[in-house]
Amino acid sequence: MSKVESGGASEPEFQIDTKLAIGGRKPFAHHGYVNTPVYHASTLLYPTAEDFLARRGKYFYGRRGTPTTEALEQALASIEGPACAGVALLPSGLTAISAALLSTVRAGDHVLVTDNAYAPTRKLCDTVLTRYGVSTTYYDPLIGSGIADLIQPNTRAVFTEAPGSLTFEMQDIPAIAEAAHARGALVLMDNTWATPLYFRALDKGVDLSIQSATKYIGGHSDLMMGTVSANAKAWPQLKEMTYTLGLCVGPDDMNMALRGLRTLGLRLPHHHQSGVKVARWLEQRPEVLRVIHPALPSHPGHDIWKRDFTGACGLFAIVLKPVPDKALHAFLDALKLYGMGASWGGYESLAIPFDVSKLRTATNWQPGGPAIRIHIGLEDVGDLTTDLERGFAALAAAR
Ligand SMILES: *Cc1c(COP(=O)(O)O)cnc(C)c1O
Repeated sequence: MSKVESGGASEPEFQIDTKLAIGGRKPFAHHGYVNTPVYHASTLLYPTAEDFLARRGKYFYGRRGTPTTEALEQALASIEGPACAGVALLPSGLTAISAALLSTVRAGDHVLVTDNAYAPTRKLCDTVLTRYGVSTTYYDPLIGSGIADLIQPNTRAVFTEAPGSLTFEMQDIPAIAEAAHARGALVLMDNTWATPLYFRALDKGVDLSIQSATKYIGGHSDLMMGTVSANAKAWPQLKEMTYTLGLCVGPDDMNMALRGLRTLGLRLPHHHQSGVKVARWLEQRPEVLRVIHPALPSHPGHDIWKRDFTGACGLFAIVLKPVPDKALHAFLDALKLYGMGASWGGYESLAIPFDVSKLRTATNWQPGGPAIRIHIGLEDVGDLTTDLERGFAALAAAR
């Protein structure tokens, strides 16, 4: 390694903030420029017939990767740690989920999927996987080592997500991984909430760690991308599946992800701290039945969070004491700083109502009042709580 150059995962000597700053960079391969150029490329030319026939050279075709691809893959591998054998880049978080799951199964197999998984993950299992002869059993996210009882001889994969991105149950990932590995099943995890900064999934027994890079890696609500980081056991099949399906990401999007990564180590602690402040403030409000945030001691999974995670992002939920729909709507509509829309992980705050009571099949979600998912962005915390006060005043006036 030369000056300010970075390799990939095999570079354990630096702290995370340093890895975020140097990951994937090779300035002197690019005339000294700090950032890796954005290679817009499909065709790659060879000087002679012999070179072409021998595919001589590091790169071959745009879809198979360029120096821009490599820069992002290496930067991501370096933050996953030395257990990472490879990173696949996909055009969305959902394709990261589908490519990872498809890489693990064949017809006749069975997968175990957490009941609080991101809803489109369920859709994939219930439609595409079913059609290709792969069956799914949903399990209670609190199952822990009890997952052993659900593992069948043909169970190839256990799909985890902790915490769930609406209801925030924490899973005992090391216990689940131990039980799964004892029976030859791979462990997948949707690690979008914590990112590898706050949960080192591959070190905790996960074989395929998935992120929607649309969220905190992009960080500015202007990018769609997904990533899957795999250990040595899972990487060959993931790589083959991604290549065979022809999945790839455009160069400008990769450049945006690289740019986002450089500031992730600043943004994520800010989301964490502001999120906890607003969550604690909400816990004191008489209108709120409960706050569901893994970093608060009141969360049933708080001990697991403390044991396995080193931080929290800005996403959590609250349940209001029962109010008519019109009061809930008045609350949400009165908020100036909290946008209402899908996704999260950008610099801006969001608040959306949700109801998953009909979606769950393995667990019974009965919140006891209207549930709202909140994303705390990078705005001033005082402004954010003042805005919520405005919402509660509107709620009181409408009930
Ligand atoms: C948003 C999200 C996804 C899907 O990511 P896209 O980039 O929107 O396809 C997957 N998992 C979780 C937990 C998410 O929040």
